Amino acid sequence: MRPVQHLEQAIGLRSYNALEREKGWGVVHILLVEDDDRVAAALRPALHRHGMTTTRLATGRPAPDHLAGVDVVLLDLGLPDVDGVDVCRAIRERSDVPVIVVSARGEVDDRILGLHSGADDYLVKPYDIGELVARVHAVYRRRRLATPTGPEDVVEVGDVRVDLHKHEVTVAGRPVNLTRKEFQVLALLATAGGAVCTRSRIVAEVWGRSWAGANRTLDVHVATLRTKLGNPEYVQTVRGVGYRLGNPAGAE
Ligand code: CA
Repeated sequence: MRPVQHLEQAIGLRSYNALEREKGWGVVHILLVEDDDRVAAALRPALHRHGMTTTRLATGRPAPDHLAGVDVVLLDLGLPDVDGVDVCRAIRERSDVPVIVVSARGEVDDRILGLHSGADDYLVKPYDIGELVARVHAVYRRRRLATPTGPEDVVEVGDVRVDLHKHEVTVAGRPVNLTRKEFQVLALLATAGGAVCTRSRIVAEVWGRSWAGANRTLDVHVATLRTKLGNPEYVQTVRGVGYRLGNPAGAE
């Protein structure tokens, strides 16, 4: 097994900054889906000043067809032609590109919905450009690190086999189809080598930040993981602390 730090990098967690410098990642290209001309006109030069390039769409429906070469999608939820949440889902069906959803102040339900629709992060209008740039860099780094080019790393617990490089999971040789977030939760537990991962650490490292519904969302992901792994005892609850990956009694 490789050093823990390498494994963490392989699944896109922590230690981003050093690796970012080391890899010399290039210019971030943003797909801006924003119907408001004034917002777009103000935003684009600001993003360009921060070394990013942009493509803008004023409607949502074409967005899934414009993902080639895009590093991060900045998606307004309030669009004239289609619900931004549906755009987010359509993008997610085709691509793992990071999506930051933007909603108007007070639309709390929209924010949670955005995260459940496969969005990586959200911002509430009006937002600070510095905050936007920081979020863009954060989701971009997480995604770049989630697709490393290093050698294969595999963690096996009982019948569960987690390939951190290929993002493949099998149980007794049968492939298990996980969402990206489900995989990241499982990979984090797998790299902990049987140690407990606290809920706050899982939320922070997989979602990048906490929010009001974070614990509930984590519970949902763990429940789905248990179902997909075919045995709820692989992901073990440590009451009041978090979760760990363990070999269920009776399994080899
Ligand atoms: Ca709008």
